[in-house]
Amino acid sequence: MDSKYLIDVENIYGTGNYDPLDVVIERGKGIWVWDMEGNKYLDFLSAYSSVNMGHCHPRIVRALIDQAKKLTITSRAFRNNQWPLFAKEICDLTGHEMVMAMNSGAEAVESAIKAVRKWGYQEKGIPEDRAEVIVCSDNFHGRTITIVGFSSEELYKKNFGPYAPGFVTVPYGDLEAFREAITPNTAAFLVEPIQAEGGIIVPPAGYLKAAKSICEENNVLFVADEIQTGLGRTGKLFGCDHEEVKPDVLIIGKSLGGGCYAISSVLSSRKILGVFTPGTHGSTFGANPLACAVARESLRVLQEENIVENSAEQGEYLLKKLQNIKSKFIKEVRGKGLLIGIELKREAGGARRFCEALAEEGLLCKETHENVIRFAPPLIIKQKDLNWAFKRVKKVFKEID
Ligand SMILES: *Cc1c(COP(=O)(O)O)cnc(C)c1O
Repeated sequence: MDSKYLIDVENIYGTGNYDPLDVVIERGKGIWVWDMEGNKYLDFLSAYSSVNMGHCHPRIVRALIDQAKKLTITSRAFRNNQWPLFAKEICDLTGHEMVMAMNSGAEAVESAIKAVRKWGYQEKGIPEDRAEVIVCSDNFHGRTITIVGFSSEELYKKNFGPYAPGFVTVPYGDLEAFREAITPNTAAFLVEPIQAEGGIIVPPAGYLKAAKSICEENNVLFVADEIQTGLGRTGKLFGCDHEEVKPDVLIIGKSLGGGCYAISSVLSSRKILGVFTPGTHGSTFGANPLACAVARESLRVLQEENIVENSAEQGEYLLKKLQNIKSKFIKEVRGKGLLIGIELKREAGGARRFCEALAEEGLLCKETHENVIRFAPPLIIKQKDLNWAFKRVKKVFKEID
């Protein structure tokens, strides 16, 4: 069986909601992956930051196998021996009082929205069905109906209506617009510390901190979607840590499952997550023992293998190198930690052809929107591998120039 056969079969039987590069990956180890023909590539995307610890990390795979042999799913009709320990460990790590575990990122965002709305009614006294959540333009919070309803991206949203009401959009990075959008019915502000899908948009310095204090002044909850920026991606444990902001509600996912399993979480105080009483929310697979065992090991790896420090150090190194590339096509190179975007000028003809050329050279990355190339390698990457990658990036820019 070769790549071409599998690409054809996928195109016939699989829905066409993605436009992948034509690389059929069969195997992965650390920062490297191999296709059906045995060609080797450096993974410079990390499954949108799900594989921060690298592919098939031996400790995480071991935890997965060991737990899979013992107990996998119980549902929450009964207790299991992994969920309480995961809950305590993630709360200890993040400094939050309570956690709710779900599976996908979008589910965790939905759960957070449910939590802040219920808090809004029960604690803040917002009249029934009037709660508002303020969101940002160019946000990305997932693909459910509610979430795409408050997206500003036509492609994500069009023809999926009617949309859920109760969301107000303000420009990302604009504090005045945010302040003005607050009403007595505002329950929360939902924000990404860096808009990754939006094109690696880094807000003005001080934005998160100022937005947090505006929230405090108005009894509005600050909800950080750190599904992509969290757990070391930006060179600190969380994106909000760059401005010493502790969100009222923290949403994580992606690499929480160590690249081996889907698990997401919402973390907050007892006052806020305490609104969930028996029967008010749930998920059959949420907090299953397999997910919890894998996440526990991922968190240990994160802390014991200096992943966050490495992300900061290597990210700074790579950013500087990329900023020194001279090309008439580059508008800006920006990012934090190992979340870096190269924004191209219009005349560059789109980021896609750069990604295709990089794949030819053995470097896998993906465009985000038309004009941004995103670089987000596993956080375990070493300097010599960044040099390897950089050589290829430079070559591709030179050739396309
Ligand atoms: C990926 C992502 C999501 C959605 O996560 P899924 O697991 O794909 O549902 C939400 N928010 C942000 C910031 C993300 O990067």
